[in-house]
Amino acid sequence: MSDANHTPADGSGPEHKTSNFLRAIIERDLEQGSHASRRWAGTPGDGAHHAAGDPDPAKIRTRFPPEPNGYLHVGHAKSICLNFGLARDYGGVCHMRFDDTNPEKEEKEYVDSILDAVQWLGFGWDSSFGGKTESHLYYASDYFDFMYRAAEALVQAGLAYVDEQTPEQMRANRGDFTTPGTDSPFRSRTPAENLARFREMRDGQHADGAMVLRAKIDMASPNINLRDPAIYRIRRATHHNTGDRWCIYPMYTFAHPIEDALENITHSICTLEFEDQRPFYDWLLDKLAELRLLARPLPRQYEFARLNLTYVITSKRKLAQLVNDGHVSGWDDPRMPTIVGLRRRGYTPESIQLFAERIGVTKADSWIDYSTLEIALRDDLESKAHRGMAVLDPVKLVLTNWDEVMGAGHLEPCALPALPHVAEGQTPPPAREFTIGREVWIEREDFAEVPPKGYKRLFPGNKVRLKGGFVVECTGCEKDAEGRVTAVLATVVPDTKSGTPGADAVKVKAAITWVGVADGVAAEVRLYDRLFSDAHPDAGGRDFKASLNLDSCRVITAYVEPSLAQAAPDQKFQFERHGYFVADRQDHAPGRPVFNRITGLKDSWGK
Ligand code: ATP
Ligand code: MG
Repeated sequence: MSDANHTPADGSGPEHKTSNFLRAIIERDLEQGSHASRRWAGTPGDGAHHAAGDPDPAKIRTRFPPEPNGYLHVGHAKSICLNFGLARDYGGVCHMRFDDTNPEKEEKEYVDSILDAVQWLGFGWDSSFGGKTESHLYYASDYFDFMYRAAEALVQAGLAYVDEQTPEQMRANRGDFTTPGTDSPFRSRTPAENLARFREMRDGQHADGAMVLRAKIDMASPNINLRDPAIYRIRRATHHNTGDRWCIYPMYTFAHPIEDALENITHSICTLEFEDQRPFYDWLLDKLAELRLLARPLPRQYEFARLNLTYVITSKRKLAQLVNDGHVSGWDDPRMPTIVGLRRRGYTPESIQLFAERIGVTKADSWIDYSTLEIALRDDLESKAHRGMAVLDPVKLVLTNWDEVMGAGHLEPCALPALPHVAEGQTPPPAREFTIGREVWIEREDFAEVPPKGYKRLFPGNKVRLKGGFVVECTGCEKDAEGRVTAVLATVVPDTKSGTPGADAVKVKAAITWVGVADGVAAEVRLYDRLFSDAHPDAGGRDFKASLNLDSCRVITAYVEPSLAQAAPDQKFQFERHGYFVADRQDHAPGRPVFNRITGLKDSWGK
């Protein structure tokens, strides 16, 4: 990011950031040295492993722990900016961890796309302290051995038991918010019996679902999550990393705190739905520390409100449905709120960082208006995107006196700056060059045979400037049998070319955008709109597909000036008066331009 106005996304330190409750917690912890005694052995591991290491050079450790079962979306972007951003700002590191403890769902395609998305957003998982570089890319499935060991330790300590009740019995005996649970008949087995049973589970002697290992806490706890939660289940499934080595797998609520502890995480930041799990998180880690498997101080969990964005769905499962049912062209369809979709649409990493910084973090659920994302995009591109002229709804303007005044077939060279403002000390980019001749494309709406009140553009007898070109005076139009205008007629006023001494001799009230017929290039322009017409497409369990906006992609043929036709794929522009556009990263080729509209110049949704 080059512009000093954008310091919030610059990452130059906490002093530039708006404070929030997480920053306050971290600053308090740093001040009190809450995590200062931790040691780090260079790789994840148990208490003994880290005890043999040096004092942890990372002041804090956070993590971003996606399950590799889909493409990341804008909600994950918030979590990425938060976790990686906090680590960067406070002299820490953020671990990139795949939470792949569930054997059924993970796929390599998703792992690759997730790594790519995090890096594209501007973050990485390497740390460098005292000249020593470490990579912090981890897979939770690498911790299965420790998780099993931890489970056995709990069994031996009388803190876990094998329950052979049916799932229905277990559910019935769990109780509810008003009724305490009932102890399982298997709850009073001895540690030796439980250990033997648990090993049988591991050794494949029991059928899937026949029994589970449960933590032994309190069946009457007011927090239902503490009523002896299941921690291991039998599931015969081939895991992408460990293959068929295991037929038992840890439950998420058991695995996650352990992953954090093995990685020396200090602040484990998650969304609010895990708030009720925090007591178990603390119980488990505390017990494993008492059993000397983990070292204190232990990681702490903090919850924040997930991102809810209007007109957008942020559930991997529902997004997959849009892809699979063909409502969009793929995960990277420019209308998708996935990071690959936003990228293809033309969103920049800086604009997404800026968005994440502006929405902040809170502990209360709320909806963020979609326009907040668009505003961040405009604020990022305003100073960076080169300008260009494009005519989206073209009609020909014929300068009937051109050959006579300028010479038959003459093309007059014109130029306009690529950027209207350049920061001090910065070299302006080369000007855009194009030509004007007898015929140019203009927007159909820039001509009115009978002008409405206050209309300043082309109507018979009125003069306007063709931006960067000449002043022209409208003389009329040609129409087809249906009365539709097929050409607008005007005369060029000689010696009024922009940038020449005569330019101001004739006063006009309007300057309109245009593209020369001789050097303009036809371009496919995809005018995207929101995918849903309802601000809360899936609220209250509604069928989100019912509010799909059927007009969310309109493809038109426009004319663009030569500089735009030569764009590199993924290059962003401001089409003067129309908004921000990007050369599509898949389909655009110089000379055969394809542009996506990212967003208009100002918020026009619903107006
Ligand atoms: P989904 O329900 O779409 O599958 P998830 O929460 O299950 O999403 P994970 O892969 O488990 O997806 O998420 C990785 C991280 O991203 C988690 O720490 C989670 O809290 C965070 N995250 C997911 N969705 C959001 C959101 N909408 N806002 C903020 N953080 C989110
Ligand atoms: Mg999940």
